[in-house]
Amino acid sequence: MLVFKFGGASVKDAAGIINLTKVVQKYAGQQLLIVVSAMGKTTNALEKLTKAYVDQKDDIHLIYNEIKDYHFHILSELFDPSHPAFDEVANTFVEIDWMIEDEPHDDYDFIYDQLVSIGELVSTRIVNAYLNHVGLTSKWLDVRGYIHTDNTYREGVVEWAKTCEHIQQDIPALLQKGIVVTQGFLGGTSENFTTTLGREGSDYTAAIFAACLKATSVTTWKDVPGILNADPKHFKDTVKFDQLSYTEAIEMTYYGAGVIHPKTIKPLQNANIPLLVKPFGDPDAIGTVISETAALYYEKPVIIVKQDQVLVSLSAKDYTFITEDHLSAVFSLFAANHIKINMMQVSALSFTVCFDYREERFDNLHNQLKQEFNVKYNNNLTIITVRHYKQEELKALIDDRTVLLEQLSRNTAQMVVK
Ligand code: ASP
Ligand code: MG
Repeated sequence: MLVFKFGGASVKDAAGIINLTKVVQKYAGQQLLIVVSAMGKTTNALEKLTKAYVDQKDDIHLIYNEIKDYHFHILSELFDPSHPAFDEVANTFVEIDWMIEDEPHDDYDFIYDQLVSIGELVSTRIVNAYLNHVGLTSKWLDVRGYIHTDNTYREGVVEWAKTCEHIQQDIPALLQKGIVVTQGFLGGTSENFTTTLGREGSDYTAAIFAACLKATSVTTWKDVPGILNADPKHFKDTVKFDQLSYTEAIEMTYYGAGVIHPKTIKPLQNANIPLLVKPFGDPDAIGTVISETAALYYEKPVIIVKQDQVLVSLSAKDYTFITEDHLSAVFSLFAANHIKINMMQVSALSFTVCFDYREERFDNLHNQLKQEFNVKYNNNLTIITVRHYKQEELKALIDDRTVLLEQLSRNTAQMVVK
């Protein structure tokens, strides 16, 4: 069986959904599970809605109506007004009506997941209805009954054993009857609350289903020709990889390459399932195949740019050396605040650490660190990672920016720049 994942860009309008069905038609006769993201920029819009709700802002209904109008406009381009998809979508949005009527309680991440998840619940309704409309038999599946997570909202930790058991129990029989369409990015807790798996988590969803069902391959359909050596938004003269090893792909995503969610590759590697990254506009193109290939020769470096970084420097309040006890306390705080460290360096009197800036988490951490350390920080920074670098190329990359922290290993160069 095959697993397909369609990201937000591929289903951003009616033309995208029509294109999706054309791609799927090419695979008629194969068992197919389709994982779909929220349409276009819906997740960002729902994030805005969540913030407006929690802060009880006046523009909440404005934001909400825009989200609804966008989806109903797409529906009206795909279906006659009497089509049941209109009611399905309206009924899904009702969940938001109920939620925003009440006063927000104080767990932001919990509220976020209950609201933001509506994006995928709606997009899959539309995609599923359209597949059936063009004569492809397809069934809508609520992923929250299959991908079981703990209650770490916004970053649900998947309970693999339970998840695979449920998937293996029900999905093979469904796939015999037709296509299965389900939501990326979402999970469910044992108390039936919705969780999300982290931004761009739909790739990970596809990998979970593929690993549990021992799929032949996973294909993620994208608006790029495959995996490029650098983001074309930042660099010209990019090249596409026809092949990549699992290990290289893991390294790339770890350092922040946005093309694939970082948790996606490992389960596929363990089950030896190739991941194909293909352009949805040209389904016959080969794209990039990620599999267990031998190390390649990298003619061009792999460059990963990650923005919105904060660099924090800690020193002990009594000006003593930074000891293992200090570090152990610091790491515990990072773990407790769910902050992943992107780069760090220890010197005699200070510990410097770089990570993604996320306001609420940062403020919490900062307050806790301040109690024990002198804390200095700098935000709005960028971290540039270069794999397979040549020393002489690094200068051009940095350009006239100031380097605040730098680390070079044999294969990988990393620089935090301002
Ligand atoms: N819709 C979610 C996001 O934009 C998940 C995904 O697209 O993979 O982050
Ligand atoms: Mg997306």
